[in-house]
Amino acid sequence: MENKKCKKEDTDAPPLRRNRPGTKFKDAYKWKAPKFSELDPMFACQEYLQLLVRDEPTNINKLMEVPEKQSPYVWEYEHFRQICLEMNYLLVLLQEECVDGNCIYMYIEESVVFCGAHSTPQECCPMNYAVHNLDRVTALLNSDKHFPSRVYVKEKYQKYFRGIAFRLYCILGHAWSEHASIFYKFEGERSLYARLMALSDRFDLIPKKMLLFPRPDIVAACMAVHNRDLLSLHRQ
Ligand SMILES: [Zn+2]
Ligand SMILES: [Zn+2]
Repeated sequence: MENKKCKKEDTDAPPLRRNRPGTKFKDAYKWKAPKFSELDPMFACQEYLQLLVRDEPTNINKLMEVPEKQSPYVWEYEHFRQICLEMNYLLVLLQEECVDGNCIYMYIEESVVFCGAHSTPQECCPMNYAVHNLDRVTALLNSDKHFPSRVYVKEKYQKYFRGIAFRLYCILGHAWSEHASIFYKFEGERSLYARLMALSDRFDLIPKKMLLFPRPDIVAACMAVHNRDLLSLHRQ
């Protein structure tokens, strides 16, 4: 009798979405995607966005679609949290060659960018620029004062997203400008730059006059040429 009761409760419980210890990477996250309405309301936007990113990181239109009945500002906020998380992987890749001897100044194309993470902007080297700004942005996004809720974001805090978008944009810009192979590999897998610029377009974040390197469609074309050249080099 007791066992039957347990079985019934197990059947009614929500399905576990968990990678068991020892799961191989190729087998990870292989569960049926839940509907938005099935997710914990407190973290539904975060969880849903992570599912979309995992399934189709290059499907920019789908990623920009705000889930039904959700605030666009919460969706925007969750995108930035997710981009910051993934940006850390880019920094790990950049550590290979974005070092003192190679990169002294924070160049994007011909422009030097100052680090605004200090009370007075400074000429930090690119890796310091990336770490300082990513720390600053992460702290702001986790600030109880400005973003106390995961289900409500005040429209007036849109101004913070403009600064956040530009700082993240500059990190990607340096990677594109000075470490193209690393950037193309990273962007090919995650479309982080394409996602950031789609957010910028959707929410009017980075003014055109502040853009320092080509837009994602041009970068994608350069990436295709780069990958083709790389392939032919390997075949020689
Ligand atoms: Zn560098
Ligand atoms: Zn700095």
